[in-house]
Amino acid sequence: MDLQGKTALVTGATSGIGRAVAERLAGEGATVIVSGRDAERGAAVVGAITEAGGSARFVAADLGDLSSVAQLAEAAADADVLVNNAGIFGFAATAEQDVDSFEAMFDVNVRGPYFLTAALAPKMAARGEGAIVNVTTMVAEYGMAGASAYGATKSALVGLTRTWAAEFSGSGVRVNAVSPGPTATEGTASVMGPDGVADMGATVPLARAARAEEIAEAVVFLASPRASYVTGAILATDGGRTAV
Ligand code: NAP
Repeated sequence: MDLQGKTALVTGATSGIGRAVAERLAGEGATVIVSGRDAERGAAVVGAITEAGGSARFVAADLGDLSSVAQLAEAAADADVLVNNAGIFGFAATAEQDVDSFEAMFDVNVRGPYFLTAALAPKMAARGEGAIVNVTTMVAEYGMAGASAYGATKSALVGLTRTWAAEFSGSGVRVNAVSPGPTATEGTASVMGPDGVADMGATVPLARAARAEEIAEAVVFLASPRASYVTGAILATDGGRTAV
C-alpha cells in the first residue's frame, strides 16, 4: 500500500476515469476526497470505497465556479495528492463552435484546475512533498478535426503540467500528466453515443478503447512514490495512437 496515511483529492471522481482513480488510490491506502457536483453519485463512490475497506469522503464542487473551487481547496487543504481529472468535452468544427460551450470548457478544464493547483501546490511544497496528476487527452498531442476548443483546453493543461513541474518540483512536489486515448465512460457514452468510443478505439494500434481502470493505473503510478523520479512527464495512455 504505497499511499498509506496520505490524503488524495480527485476531481470528477463521481464518474468514469475519476471514479476508477479514486477507487485505486483508496486501494493503495489513501484517504480519498471524492469531488464532483453530483452528491448522489459521490455517495455511491464513497460507499463503494468504504465497503471495500477504504476511506473516503465526498466534497461537492463546481469547477466552473471560482468560489466553489476556493471552498474545495479549503476542504482539501491537507491533500498530498491532487488529481485534476474533472473535465467536459464537446466536439464542433471551429466555424460552428458556440461561445458558451467554449467558455464552459475553458472554465472547467483549465481555470478550475489552475486555481485549485495554485491553492494546493504551495501547501504541498511547504510540507516538502506532494504529487499532482493532470488528466489531459491524446487530442492535445495531434490535430483532430472537430476537437479545436476541447483540444486547446487540454493543450493548456499539458503546458501547465510542465510549468508547474518547473515551479514546484524543487520543493518536492512532482507534477505529471496522463494523456488518455478513447476510454469507455459515462461521459463518452453520452457525448459520442453507444458505439462512438469503440469506433474510435478501433483506430488506435491496440485496436480497442480503454477501460477507465487502465487509465487509473497510470494515474496512480504517477501519484505514488513508485514514480519518485518522474516529474514534468506526459504519459501517453492512448493504446499507441500518438506513437505511430
Ligand atoms: P465523465 O464520465 O463525463 O466524468 C466527468 C467527471 O467530471 C464527472 O465526475 C463529473 O462530475 C465531473 N465534472 C464535470 N463537470 C464538472 C464541473 N463543472 N465541476 C466539477 N466536476 C465536474 O468523463 P471521463 O470520460 O471519465 O473523463 C474524465 C477526464 O478524462 C476528463 O478530463 C476528460 O477530458 C479526460 N479524457 C477522457 C477520455 C475518454 O475517452 N473518456 C479521453 C481523454 C481524456 P459531476 O457530474 O458529479 O460534476
